Amino acid sequence: MEIQYFEFLKHLIRFNRYVYLDHNATTNVSSNVQRRMNQVLKDHYGNPSSLYGIGRKSAEIMEQARQQVANAIHANPDEIYFTSCATESNNAILKSVSSHFFPGKKKIISTPIEHPSALSTLKHLETLGIIVEYCAVDRQGRVLLNELEKQMDEQTFLVCCMVANNETGVIQDIAAITKIARRHDLLVLTDCVQALGKIPVNVHEWGVHYASFSAHKLYGPKGIGALYIKQSSPFTPFLHGGHQESGVRAGTESIHNIAGFGAACQEVDKLLADAERLQTLKSRMIQQLKEIKPDCVINSPQSEAECLPNTLNITFPSVGNAGLMAMLDYRGIAVSAGSACSTGEDMPSHVLKSIGLSDQAARETIRISLGHSTSARDIQYVTQVVQDYMEGRTPYVNMITPAQLNETILFDEQTYILDVRPPDDRKRFKGLPNSHEVSPLSIEKYLDQLPRDKEILVYCPGGGLSYMISYYLKAKGFKHVSNLRGGLDGWRKRRNDLYQKYAGQNLTVLEQAQ
Ligand code: PLP
Repeated sequence: MEIQYFEFLKHLIRFNRYVYLDHNATTNVSSNVQRRMNQVLKDHYGNPSSLYGIGRKSAEIMEQARQQVANAIHANPDEIYFTSCATESNNAILKSVSSHFFPGKKKIISTPIEHPSALSTLKHLETLGIIVEYCAVDRQGRVLLNELEKQMDEQTFLVCCMVANNETGVIQDIAAITKIARRHDLLVLTDCVQALGKIPVNVHEWGVHYASFSAHKLYGPKGIGALYIKQSSPFTPFLHGGHQESGVRAGTESIHNIAGFGAACQEVDKLLADAERLQTLKSRMIQQLKEIKPDCVINSPQSEAECLPNTLNITFPSVGNAGLMAMLDYRGIAVSAGSACSTGEDMPSHVLKSIGLSDQAARETIRISLGHSTSARDIQYVTQVVQDYMEGRTPYVNMITPAQLNETILFDEQTYILDVRPPDDRKRFKGLPNSHEVSPLSIEKYLDQLPRDKEILVYCPGGGLSYMISYYLKAKGFKHVSNLRGGLDGWRKRRNDLYQKYAGQNLTVLEQAQ
């Protein structure tokens, strides 16, 4: 009896645990940052452009934050401009520098593993006549410097290369890249979003001309970024309006966010001092995961100097990441995947493909990113849950493959089809016949309407989100839950005949409980 009670307690403790291991996606706002932001929100509403007292006070707060950001990245405060996010910073530089040089010079060299905020902007610039060349990277994602130099010619004006990659954690030798670029009179933009707070950032020592930053990756608020522009580097504003940010970026400044960014930057030294601890936790986790699944493949560079201390990208052959992530979520653990199924089409990550992973391997890959609050117990818990999953000791969600989903299942009275797709996917594609549409963001508001005696078949665009919701329903006591593998997208491709014949028939939109 006592043992049973103890097991029950252990079960409760396990299920009440929440372990956040997705710090490369975003971080929680630290208490110092919160305090500072609350104070500014409460007391300092003045417009920093106003000349009277409360306006001057806001301007002073902004300049203090600018100094704090500059200190953290080793720049001068007059080289820092606040933006709304790093996506804006990357857009601003790529577009502005292109318009400065084009059509005299036409070429930008970048890497295939940049963040979409750079890659999508480069794609857009290509439509305007800019030539973008992507330099080769090795299996670890490191830029091949000799190859990079060979691509530089008199048409080139800019090199765009991130310091540290968000998915694998690979760190580039940005000082060496800048040195080569400078030999050819080229400008350099570097995305430092993942680097700041994880490894030392020194824009002056590196010699780069432009750098982008984002507060929410280092325990600051969302919606605020920064741009470093080395003195006398070309820049044309792309937001026109008032004279804010020395005319570089118009729009009334978000004082509380700027103050929060400054406060986050004040904690950078503390974060850097924690790197060794995170590295030790990561190494321990790698060792344990290798014991659990000896054929796992580490995609992050294994050399400490070449990888962010908090980031682990790992492939578990023949274990789909959607199922693993859903199981981890069920047990309170947040990690991210090597494919972006939330966008609908379950696309394998461009970063993983660039370093040589197959589509299949990318779909068997997860990213674990540790943070300041990660403890040894968290790592112990995560490895235990992974082991339970690998060894089949976890609740089971029935899987329906696209080939299996035929007319018998679609029209079976005992099957209740639950559509958890986001609204934009519903606009693009008709749903399965007899679907019950709910908002995936607030699934808990529909629980009373879902039948407990039927088989609930959950589907989303790509099969990842529905997996998570299936596990959630299991946790809420629904015994018969199935998930459509590959989602509607997979089924449409596999059974287009049935999609054409039945999709969109007899749909029900469920009302949320208040
Ligand atoms: N660059 C990198 C490397 C990132 O990881 C991110 C965010 O994930 C961004 C840019 C975009 O940052 P923001 O969310 O501030 O637009």
